[in-house]
Amino acid sequence: MQFSQVIGQQAVKQNLIQSVRNHRVSHAQLFLGSSGSGSLALALAYAQYINCGQRTENDSCGVCPSCLKISKLTHPDLHFIFPTTTNKKVKKDPESALFIDDWRGFVTATKAYGNLQAWYEHLDVEKKQGTIFIRDAATILRNLSLKSYEAEYKVMIIWMAEKLNAQAANKLLKLLEEPPAKTLFLLLAEQQDQILPTVLSRTYKVKVPKINDQELLRELCDKHNCREADAHDAVMMADGDWPLALHFFENAEEEKYNFQTFQQWMRLCFKVSVTELIDFVDKLRPLGREKQKTLLAYGLQVFRNALLFNNQLVDLVRLPSEEKSFNEKFAPFVNPANLLQMSQLMEEGIRQIERNGFGPLIFMDISLKMIKLLKQKAPTAIN
Ligand SMILES: [Zn+2]
Repeated sequence: MQFSQVIGQQAVKQNLIQSVRNHRVSHAQLFLGSSGSGSLALALAYAQYINCGQRTENDSCGVCPSCLKISKLTHPDLHFIFPTTTNKKVKKDPESALFIDDWRGFVTATKAYGNLQAWYEHLDVEKKQGTIFIRDAATILRNLSLKSYEAEYKVMIIWMAEKLNAQAANKLLKLLEEPPAKTLFLLLAEQQDQILPTVLSRTYKVKVPKINDQELLRELCDKHNCREADAHDAVMMADGDWPLALHFFENAEEEKYNFQTFQQWMRLCFKVSVTELIDFVDKLRPLGREKQKTLLAYGLQVFRNALLFNNQLVDLVRLPSEEKSFNEKFAPFVNPANLLQMSQLMEEGIRQIERNGFGPLIFMDISLKMIKLLKQKAPTAIN
């Protein structure tokens, strides 16, 4: 990956490039950036730049043998450690080395912008959480004891370093403090407060900010050959997260459908118009299960937004104006007395649809319960 392929982040790129050009590369660095801001892409571009035989002032060449191997993630001096857990293929003692082919596939498919959830889906681990184990740390030690094959720097990328368990972290501490010569540790994490203090104190922090809206907009328009106006809503909702911007853009039609349909549904519930509701739920039948589920999931979002509106956190609600206005008007009807029940209704609906329940019946049942819940007043404080 070249720096030119990393979205935005000009300031971070310049600092990384300067560190190489001034021979001031810190040997253990912690890239801190929220999901979708491109920490892994930056780390890969950095590893490629540092080892490129023909690097220029601003980027690696992209074509020398080192660049080619790093871009294919097959360079013998480029190592990866990431959270893993058991799945259908690896039934016990998971560790990064056992999943390296999956990892290469994942990073290539997402162009290094995949998040943890997408990684778990890629591994098909269902609801399990991944960990970076002491076995992974042992592999790092083993790799470092070997001479570097061909690169100037051996690079160890530890992705989602907050998943290092205490044993693994302890095993790495000495290395982070005094890494062997020409070794570069790049730890990538989203949340500083989840990093063990012993790791935090031994690494040089590189803050990776959210991608700014203008950069996201340009990237979406280039990629999809669309007008800025068409990509505007997706960018606003994504809040600096590239995969999220892509998701919103590519699912804009569905999002709009869900908004309009949910709005119509709630209006009928407010009106308590049972005949119209019967008509309405019947029209949802041809949607199919997946779309019925996303409509219910949309409801969960509306309730969550209501919570934000009701707590004066309106800036956190990033939606197109018409949708935001509906969410705002809906908010007063959600209160501590009914929020949980409303959410449970939608979640239970999703489960029933997954179990092959009949859509219109499920939606009708939810409608009747929503009518009651929407009338429920917030509990007044006792003086
Ligand atoms: Zn090169």
